[in-house]
Order: sequence, then C-alpha cells, then structure tokens
Amino acid sequence: MATTRDYYEILGLSKETSAEDIKKTYRKLALKYHPDRNKEAGAEEKFKEISEAYAVLSDPEKRAQYDRLGHAGIDGQYSAEDIFRNADFSGFGDIFEMFFGGGRRGGPMGPRRGSDLQYDLYIAFEEAAFGVHKDIDIQRTERCSKCSGTGAKEGTSPKRCPTCGGAGQVRTTRSGLGMQFVSTTTCSTCHGRGQIIESPCPVCNGAGRIRNKRKIAVNVPAGADSGMTLRLSGEGDSGEPGGSPGDLYVVLHVMEHKYFKRVDYDVISELPISFAQAALGEDVMVDTLYGKVKMNVPSGTQTHSVFRLRDKGIQHMQGHGKGDQLVRVTIKTPTKLTSEQKELLRQFEYLSNGKKSEGNEKDRNEKSKKSKGIFEKVKDVFEG
Ligand SMILES: [Zn+2]
Ligand SMILES: [Zn+2]
Repeated sequence: MATTRDYYEILGLSKETSAEDIKKTYRKLALKYHPDRNKEAGAEEKFKEISEAYAVLSDPEKRAQYDRLGHAGIDGQYSAEDIFRNADFSGFGDIFEMFFGGGRRGGPMGPRRGSDLQYDLYIAFEEAAFGVHKDIDIQRTERCSKCSGTGAKEGTSPKRCPTCGGAGQVRTTRSGLGMQFVSTTTCSTCHGRGQIIESPCPVCNGAGRIRNKRKIAVNVPAGADSGMTLRLSGEGDSGEPGGSPGDLYVVLHVMEHKYFKRVDYDVISELPISFAQAALGEDVMVDTLYGKVKMNVPSGTQTHSVFRLRDKGIQHMQGHGKGDQLVRVTIKTPTKLTSEQKELLRQFEYLSNGKKSEGNEKDRNEKSKKSKGIFEKVKDVFEG
C-alpha cells in the first residue's frame, strides 16, 4: 500500500481504541480532508492515507494481523481492492456521495411506516367539561383494496427485482483517488423494494396505496382542555407493505364561553350586582355548568369579592372530584338616576354621615332601623 506510517498514528489513536471510536475519528478526519472541501496542498494525500488506515483498522481480521505484524501483515498480503472491499464504509454515504458526485445514499430501507396525521378539533366549553363524542372527517392514505397493496394489476403479481435479486440493495465498487470503495446502496431499479411491478393496478397506479376519506370517532374525555392531544393509534396513513400505519393526533381547541373562563379545573365567572344587593345582602341565582344555583351575597359585600361554589367546576381528568366555581362580584353603580332615586340617596348619605357621634344607644338603634328602611326603599327603587 501507499503509506508506511503507522495506521494508528495516522488516525491519532492508540491500539486500544474501540472499533466505534475508530469509525468516529475517521468520519471526522474524512470530512476535514475531503478533497471536495479541503483545497489545501496535501489534503488529497492525507485523505488517501486516513482512508487506507481506516480500511485496514475497520476490518477486525486485518486489524488483528496488523497489530501482530505491522505493515508486514498487510502489505503484499492484500491487494488495495481487497482492503477496501471488506472495510466498513457503511454510514459514510454522505461523505462518499460528495466524493463521487452524488450516488444514491446507502443503507438498508425497510418497509416505511405510514405518516402521522394531525387534526385540529374545535369543541365548546361545555363539551370539554363534560366530554363529548365527535365524528371527524379526515383524508388519509390507505392500502389499495383492489390489489391488496401490492400495486400489481389483478391476476398479476410483483416480480422479483432482476437488478438486486430482491434484496433491495446492491453492492457497488467505486474507484476514486486511486482507491476502490465498496459500498451498499439502495437498488435504483426497485428503489429498495426488492420487487418491480410490470402491470400496475389501475386503481392505485401501482403505488399500492390510495387517498381515502374516512370518518373517525373521537372520544374527548370529560375535563379535557385546549392544547391537549389525543393519539389515535394506527389511524394515520398506512405504511408500505409490511410497515405499520402512522397515528392520528387530534389537537383540542376549546372555544371561549360567553360567561365562563377556566383556570385548571376551576370555572371563573363574573356576577354584577347592585350596590343595594351588596350592602343589604341577598340570595342570588348564579349560572353554573350544572344549571342555576342559589348563592348568598352577604351584607356588606365589597366589589371584586370572590365567592366559591364547591364542586361546581370541571371534572378532573385523572382521579375523582371536580374543581370549584369562583364567582367574582362586581358592583354596578347606576349612571342615570330619577329624582326619587336621587332623593333617597341624599337621605342615605345624611343618615350615614350626619350626627355620627351623637345620641344614645336608643337613638342609634332608631337610626339603624331608619337607614335599613331606606336601604330597602333604595333596593326596591333600583331593582324595580
Ligand atoms: Zn432492486
Ligand atoms: Zn392497487
């Protein structure tokens, strides 16, 4: 062979280096000194040298021989072609593709799995809360039923590929830079299938697969939320013969509700009340996911107070129980007042602020009764 230098030294490795590390190192060096990329003087020679070193060291038998006897174990024992024929150049397709100006990328090609599909499903707030059954329409690639996926016309069958003998791959020897490389590449006649179709099926034109429209049942579980993805195993595109089908991913989008918002499993709602209701307190009816529910607004309620309705939230996806409904109260201040309303409010203001520190216990009770009376009037007038 060409070089007389030590093969390990050329790759910068020791005798103990594992086969895997030798391969990694060679990949790195081959990319560095590849004549298509490296135009420096001597790069081509360097590339030849590392390739030779790698060809010997990647073959366990030759490596053992070289370890025992050095160059004497290789030179004169093997022709250059021999050395490169058994060298492990698998996985270097990209390097040699570049090298030989675009051959087919090597590597075995098994039956390909079908593609995964995605469907965006929009559901109502309540549907997410309680769960829903939906039928969705999708387009997917399926095995052609006319030819059972073979791609061959009825009464005929695919023939074994004459180029690769059915293997789907061919070993090719290539020469370049004064060396020979043996590599395994995908058969270009059958594109790796190992079979060729002489009379194609008229339904699928020989592809073995066709596009079909399908209705798929989707069960959205109670408690589902936006962004959740349901995986329907095997409902995607069908694979090549022998390959498994892809999956269908249903991505959930929960539409906004008129009144409710959701935070985790709690439902949030707003409740506008009058200032009379807030001051006097009252039982009010509140909309929940489960219908109207009576809720007590205690007297003296401030605006933006939050009340909790236990278990009126959303069913937990895992385990038992529900979230709560949180009711946020906002107090409406009237914008247009009648003269009667104005008069009542003036009386209210007078009773609230006038002669605060004066009077005995009895007076205060009297005042309290009076102001209550006014509150009731206010309430009647404002809620009329
Ligand atoms: Zn073939
Ligand atoms: Zn067909």
